Amino acid sequence: MDLRYTDEDKAFRAAVRDWLAEHAPREPLGTVAEKKAWHRKLYEAGYLGMGWPKAYGGREARPIEQAIVIEEMARAKAPGSINWAGLGLVGPTLIHHGTDEQRERYLRNILLGDEVWCQLYSEPNAGSDLAALQCRAEIDGDEFIVNGQKIWTSTAPEADMGILLVRTDREAPKHQGISYLIIDMRQPGIEVRPLRQITGIKDEFAEVFFSNVRVPADNLIGELNTGWRIAQTTLSYERGGDTMGIVARLEQSFERLLEIAGTTRRDGKRQIDDPLVRRKLGRIRAEIEVLRYSSLRILSAVEKGRHPGPESSISKLHYSELDKRLYGLMHEILGPFGQVGNGGSDDYAYTTHGGGDAHDNWAYLLMQPYAETIYAGSSEIQKNIIGERVLGLPKGLRADRLAR
Ligand SMILES: Cc1cc2nc3c(=O)[nH]c(=O)nc-3n(C[C@H](O)[C@H](O)[C@H](O)COP(=O)(O)OP(=O)(O)OC[C@H]3O[C@@H](n4cnc5c(N)ncnc54)[C@H](O)[C@@H]3O)c2cc1C
Repeated sequence: MDLRYTDEDKAFRAAVRDWLAEHAPREPLGTVAEKKAWHRKLYEAGYLGMGWPKAYGGREARPIEQAIVIEEMARAKAPGSINWAGLGLVGPTLIHHGTDEQRERYLRNILLGDEVWCQLYSEPNAGSDLAALQCRAEIDGDEFIVNGQKIWTSTAPEADMGILLVRTDREAPKHQGISYLIIDMRQPGIEVRPLRQITGIKDEFAEVFFSNVRVPADNLIGELNTGWRIAQTTLSYERGGDTMGIVARLEQSFERLLEIAGTTRRDGKRQIDDPLVRRKLGRIRAEIEVLRYSSLRILSAVEKGRHPGPESSISKLHYSELDKRLYGLMHEILGPFGQVGNGGSDDYAYTTHGGGDAHDNWAYLLMQPYAETIYAGSSEIQKNIIGERVLGLPKGLRADRLAR
């Protein structure tokens, strides 16, 4: 593994930086049309789906180039793409498991931003235990008929298409009776009900209800009842796909933290001069570096043609918990002021969900990282995966048994 950037990479980075300085929107994007226009602009500049096959609109660029773009976007506080699910989840899944017809039909539209996607996995009784999902699809001739409910579906209010996990065999063991479908979200029988969050955001995600929704059999990805394995590919990209961008965002948040520690006083003393605060700051800075190297390790695996795999859980666990600690420390330093003060409008301009939402209060910045420790599998679930699938510990090893 060579972690150095080549001269070519450095020149590419400089070009991306210049482009963003000229083109990145200065204001948060409001409407779906504005978000789609920004996506299209990024694609036309050659900055989306860079590693995808040329036949489907990609450039077959090296993964490091895509990582550089994501990093530079975070640095420039440019909004991400509205089509984060299409680019980050659906595209890689279709490249690994789709048919040529499916790739032909969907990949280019994802890149053009003509179809925005969402991920319909979680249900009210199937989150961490995703394989317990009950939303079902019956086969009727050359169609599936879908009935049931999903929840916490990000971007659902804006989505044109979705990837949907359904139960197609109720007799089989739970992991073996699941299939992976592509569903058109703009059809009768689908009801999307947006969910309001404690952060005040009204339409980031939704509940979705399906009543006798017809899905063509051609929309099945992989074989019938093999959806669980395919879902793992999608999840490995979701957990470890673009963490270099997260490292860049954390670096910016850390700069802000330093600024606040340097200007906030307690008992007349600058917080940054307090040895305890300095120790906590040092630890966070060191952890950002650790995250950089574990992200580079995933990148190096992807450069060699592998998909991120269960190791991506290490980065997911690390970045989400680190974000929580970073903003927790910011609140510790700010004290009660953190409840009321203005955090500036651009701290969180680059969100993992690519909405480019700008928020202007500290309370938001404290709460938002908690969502990161839940989506794409909670921290406890990432620890289970690391234990069982990365370290090879026995399944279901419990602390009380370890203690003996
Ligand atoms: C911002 C955000 C966006 C999301 N976007 C999407 C999306 O686009 N599509 C989608 O399908 N879903 C999405 N989700 C849902 C997310 O995947 C689930 O919330 C998550 O998997 C947890 O499931 P749950 O909410 O049902 O909690 P539960 O599974 O009920 O978990 C409750 C608690 O129990 C713990 N727990 C559960 N099982 C175990 C275990 N075996 N060992 C140890 N601890 C355990 C959990 O860690 C958690 O603390 C999103 C969630 C958030 C917060």
